[in-house]
Amino acid sequence: MSVVMTPKSVKGNSYLKVTQKFPFCKGCGHHQITKAIDGALVRLNLDPRNINITSDIGCVGLVDSLFQDVHSLHTTHGRSTAFATGVEIADSILGDSKLKNLVVIGDGGAMIGLLHLVNAAQLNVDVTVILYNNFLFGMTGGQNSSFSPLGFVTATTPGGNIVPPVNIIDVLKGANAGFLARKTATDADLAEIIADAISYPGFALVEVLELCTEYALRGNVIRGNKLAELGAGPTADLGIIVNRHDRKELGVVYKEKLKVQKEETKGVGIEPRYENALEKKTGFIIAGTAGERVQSAAYMLVQAAVLSGANATQKNDNPVTQGTGFSTAEVVLSREKILYTGIDVPDVVVVVSEDGVKDLTAKGVFDATNDESLIIADETLVIPSCRGRVLRQPLRRKYLPEGAAFAGILTAVKTTGILPPLAFQDVAVSQKRAEELLSILEHVMGEI
Ligand code: SF4
Ligand SMILES: [Mg+2]
Repeated sequence: MSVVMTPKSVKGNSYLKVTQKFPFCKGCGHHQITKAIDGALVRLNLDPRNINITSDIGCVGLVDSLFQDVHSLHTTHGRSTAFATGVEIADSILGDSKLKNLVVIGDGGAMIGLLHLVNAAQLNVDVTVILYNNFLFGMTGGQNSSFSPLGFVTATTPGGNIVPPVNIIDVLKGANAGFLARKTATDADLAEIIADAISYPGFALVEVLELCTEYALRGNVIRGNKLAELGAGPTADLGIIVNRHDRKELGVVYKEKLKVQKEETKGVGIEPRYENALEKKTGFIIAGTAGERVQSAAYMLVQAAVLSGANATQKNDNPVTQGTGFSTAEVVLSREKILYTGIDVPDVVVVVSEDGVKDLTAKGVFDATNDESLIIADETLVIPSCRGRVLRQPLRRKYLPEGAAFAGILTAVKTTGILPPLAFQDVAVSQKRAEELLSILEHVMGEI
């Protein structure tokens, strides 16, 4: 996306590049629809710096480049609405919410990316989709699309299409879309309807029925005034079909919810009560077997660190089958804000089972240790050669498999002195297994 300063002359006249001719075939409906989009922008007198046109693949993919000074994004086939949805969410939630996001997509792209349209309608993002529906894939040789009417002759349906077309308006009605219109490319009020769609605060789609003169006329006899009858069957509605205002657009709802949540959670959270002795950002890698409370022990380390005024992050890992195999957690502690949650060189490794050793070996954790690393391992384990200080402890034998990871973490904390035992006591007291955890704490740390 590029930002270009706007020449004043663009506003009020046309947003199209004056020097560039339309590249479309003679008689193609893309001419009228693109001009109608321009007409809509002129009516709304939008600052081009606040317009983003996202185009799809096909002849319609040439449309965004015809406009001057607007932002533009040319995307992969069918995905234009998803890209625009992302841009819109970023702008409405993180930005100043000034951007008007337009999508230009053909019936081929709409068919390929149908769920992106459904999703955008469901979310009610402020994205306006102009669907150039010429009932076939134009650019690739005139093949049948999901929008081809019954009986329509295309390159892939030479005997006439036998599958009824998708009614996109009905599909998106079912996804709670707020603004839906169906027009033909020759309608005099097309620009006005597109302007209404762009002004609509939320998801809007205008399906515009048109002809691909290159392919549609080869096997079909279509008169201009019969074009409307082709779109989703002879009984399909034309004009503005849905224009409801009972939903707020996503950015507004999200911000309102965030405000309420901030109010509700004011004062909630862990207030530091102790001091930590962290001298640097410290990375713990704790590994064991699923079901043996490895990740919950890591979370107690995080809580004790926060209680001691540190920042902390935790990332867990386990196999797809959650309840079997290894269970690993990476915890980073720091006095500073943690902007990188990876651990390139582990400061502390706690490993309490064979599964844990296998996982850490596969991940290269032992190879990544250095002379400063501290490795706390259960006494029964054979660990690969590594640098640093290795402390073997009877963790499983003394504290049982469910207490081994917690005991290993406490051993590391005691050895390094980075966090006060009292913080762990406060955390342990609040757990369901308080008695068991306090007993481990006392054994490892001694009298607190
Ligand atoms: S191939 Fe069809 S859709 Fe593409 S520019 Fe030509 S007439 Fe228009
Ligand atoms: Mg098409």
